[in-house]
Amino acid sequence: MENIFDVIIIGGGPAGLTAGIYSSRAKLSTVILNEGSFGGQVVMTNEVANYPGVELTNGYMLANTMKKQAKDFGCKLKSNVNITKYDIKGDIKTVELDDGRVFQGKSVIFATGGRPRYLNAPGEEEYKGSGVSYCATCDGDFFTDKEIIVVGGGNSALEEAVSLTNYASKVTIVHQFDHFQAFPSVIEETKSNPKINFIMESKITELKGEDSLKKVNIEHLPSGKNTEINIDGVFVFIGYVPNTTNLDGIINLNENKEIIVDNEMQTSIPGVFAAGDSTAKRFRQITTAVADGTIAALSAAEYLRN
Ligand SMILES: Cc1cc2nc3c(=O)[nH]c(=O)nc-3n(C[C@H](O)[C@H](O)[C@H](O)COP(=O)(O)OP(=O)(O)OC[C@H]3O[C@@H](n4cnc5c(N)ncnc54)[C@H](O)[C@@H]3O)c2cc1C
Repeated sequence: MENIFDVIIIGGGPAGLTAGIYSSRAKLSTVILNEGSFGGQVVMTNEVANYPGVELTNGYMLANTMKKQAKDFGCKLKSNVNITKYDIKGDIKTVELDDGRVFQGKSVIFATGGRPRYLNAPGEEEYKGSGVSYCATCDGDFFTDKEIIVVGGGNSALEEAVSLTNYASKVTIVHQFDHFQAFPSVIEETKSNPKINFIMESKITELKGEDSLKKVNIEHLPSGKNTEINIDGVFVFIGYVPNTTNLDGIINLNENKEIIVDNEMQTSIPGVFAAGDSTAKRFRQITTAVADGTIAALSAAEYLRN
């Protein structure tokens, strides 16, 4: 049995790391359990230009600084965990890992974020890592002087398309609607980039190749007309799915499987809070995740005092 902590945080992205900074700074013994390495979705973005007080940084640097801050305040960080069981209804909450480790806490904060939504088209699974990517920062360099497609029409898709022009010779944005859902300034920047082309009202219906991706079929949705295009890479930015599969039946989720919280980030179970992209809310940004993490940690501290 590991220590009994005041606060167990599940997830080490911006929301979880911020919760860790606040609760360990308040001298609450805190552990963050993270699947894989720390940082969350932020590490997938090359350029973060909208985090207040930091003029321009990359996602990895920002997340790494948050991690260092949490650690410096005494927060324990455990990476590459695989949680197999939650027993969180009582006053002492228990989290079990697949390697037999058991963590107990007086409060829990879920900050499990989300993962990219997949195209679910034939060939996508086969060419993941050999032509299909969900991370411009991680894979952009592999497509230097190559022609690629970016799928999506929101802020992430357009911003990542612009950043991918640093590598690719040509970027074609394929979007299902006739308009984009991004901020006007982002749309303007994308449209004025000479390396970027647009295929609107269309979707990828199949990905094909040999050892790596070579072609995609694109369907023009209003007409149903299909076109085959030669392409070296496809980057997919079409939204997210909350990481809450193992929470179904444990805490209240909405119909989108997002964690339902009140203004204090309290879930349906006393002493259990949630923060960031995994919660039910309209906007998902680093700033909103860190704000939620702050509130969740302060609420957990208040719960422990009472
Ligand atoms: C490509 C891209 C670009 C973006 N660019 C920007 C930008 O420029 N500016 C901006 O403000 N926002 C941007 N965002 C959004 C921003 O990254 C997210 O809103 C933010 O990371 C959410 O933080 P979070 O901590 O809630 O979740 P996440 O960042 O998703 O972190 C969740 C963490 O929990 C871990 N986890 C999940 N399940 C479990 C489990 N069962 N057990 C243990 N750990 C678990 C994950 O491994 C992960 O480390 C971008 C997102 C993407 C995908």
